[in-house]
Amino acid sequence: MSEKQASFYESVERNFDKAAGFTGLPKGLLEQIKVCNSIYQMNFPVRIGNGFQVIEAYRVQHSHHRLPTKGGIRFSHHVNQDEVMALASLMTYKCALVDVPFGGAKGGVKISPRKYTPEQLEKITRRYAVELVRKNFIGPGVDVPAPDYGTGSREMAWILDTYQQLRNGELDSAACVTGKPVHQNGIQGRTEATGRGVFYGLREMLSYPEDCKAMGMTPGIEGKTMVIQGLGNVGTYTGSISIKEGGVKVIAVSEIEGTIINEKGIDIDKLVKYRKNKGSIIGFPGTKKLDKRDDWVAIPCDILVPAALESQINKSNAKRVKAKIIAEAANGPVTANAEEILLKKGIVIVPDMYLNAGGVTVSYFEWLKNLSHVRYGRIEKRFDHNAYSNIVALVEKTTGKKVSQKEKTFLTKGADEVDLVRSGLEETMVTAYAQIREVYKRKKKVEDLRTAAFVSAINKVASDYMTLGIFP
Ligand code: NAD
Repeated sequence: MSEKQASFYESVERNFDKAAGFTGLPKGLLEQIKVCNSIYQMNFPVRIGNGFQVIEAYRVQHSHHRLPTKGGIRFSHHVNQDEVMALASLMTYKCALVDVPFGGAKGGVKISPRKYTPEQLEKITRRYAVELVRKNFIGPGVDVPAPDYGTGSREMAWILDTYQQLRNGELDSAACVTGKPVHQNGIQGRTEATGRGVFYGLREMLSYPEDCKAMGMTPGIEGKTMVIQGLGNVGTYTGSISIKEGGVKVIAVSEIEGTIINEKGIDIDKLVKYRKNKGSIIGFPGTKKLDKRDDWVAIPCDILVPAALESQINKSNAKRVKAKIIAEAANGPVTANAEEILLKKGIVIVPDMYLNAGGVTVSYFEWLKNLSHVRYGRIEKRFDHNAYSNIVALVEKTTGKKVSQKEKTFLTKGADEVDLVRSGLEETMVTAYAQIREVYKRKKKVEDLRTAAFVSAINKVASDYMTLGIFP
């Protein structure tokens, strides 16, 4: 990339500084909020094939104003300290914004997961977990990792097992990591959570008619066109849920192997199955392949969704963007320099710290479930079902009319775990958007949603520091 200026971490710092001026908080407090509290860089050997490989890895805890700290673990050959620091910082502001009571953290292991067998990945993951335990960088009340780019529930299960072997008998040990498989102390709805949160966030912002008018759009998410970069966890669920529950039309998808387009719409569920079988999205029926993969950025659409990695929209391609909204499903996909160009063009950027907060929100629900040692809905589901059944029976008796079995099933259902998780996630995304919008509308000089989100988050972290008595 030709962009020499801001690194990812510097971009986050620049965004922070831009917002800090609107908070009126003292300089020392702002400095304390901004810095990374603990940075652990490690190198450990793992036997791979006939030899050893030294693996470089990180865990950064950005802020201890609330404990535990929380943040995903990334497996990628791009991992470096700057990136992990940036991601850990974003986690602090993200948690504050959506009222998840954690400090921010992030982990990174500098490997290309595709180059290793599952057995080798297990060895690397377990060894990384041992390093975290040894330095007290993991634990239900200390620091709680989760999946991120290149990792998923499988890696989280390995981390849990390693932790439990070393901390045998610790009552709340299942809460040392989130994003675990459902049958291994995980929670229903975690895998889809980030993408579902992106959908709830977009639907909410498009529900304000005057804001849509200002963007030159009709109100409502239905019928809007979407382009997605990255068909991984976040991109897949964002696309699939936006189509099924929002009536969105996904017209193009970009992956490592190239970009495909179909103006009539692409069925994301079928595309995922196709890619699983063929190893590529290219050739998916009804689609055309673009000559250059990176042209995804210039496709005219309502909503452009970068859901792969940071710095994908940068100074060199920002001018080409023809979308009305950039929905930051990935962390840091728009550089600070690109943002200046995009805002001048009148493009609205929905910031990562808000839009992809669904993952950490449901991770918080999983952590609570692990601490309470009981599945959501277990206690009240049958009670609610029986109460609703009694009401329906009373209505039938009073009116003399029978309710159909289908209607009865719908009306009397007690909430399952997944219903409650989705409801909590929806509430979180709606409430947080209202807070950002309030700052955006109230503070005249706040010109973009990212700055508004930062202002809201910084104020909440500051208030925690004041409550702790560190800053009077
Ligand atoms: P993932 O590994 O499941 O998927 C990422 C996808 O992007 C992969 O399929 C990869 O092939 C593709 N990709 C990489 N480079 C690309 C390129 N240049 N062009 C097109 N496609 C490319 O990762 P994920 O968990 O979906 O995370 C994606 C982003 O979302 C990251 O920035 C991550 O930090 C962020 N995020 C993830 C979560 C979560 O719960 N997983 C939560 C919040 C934020």
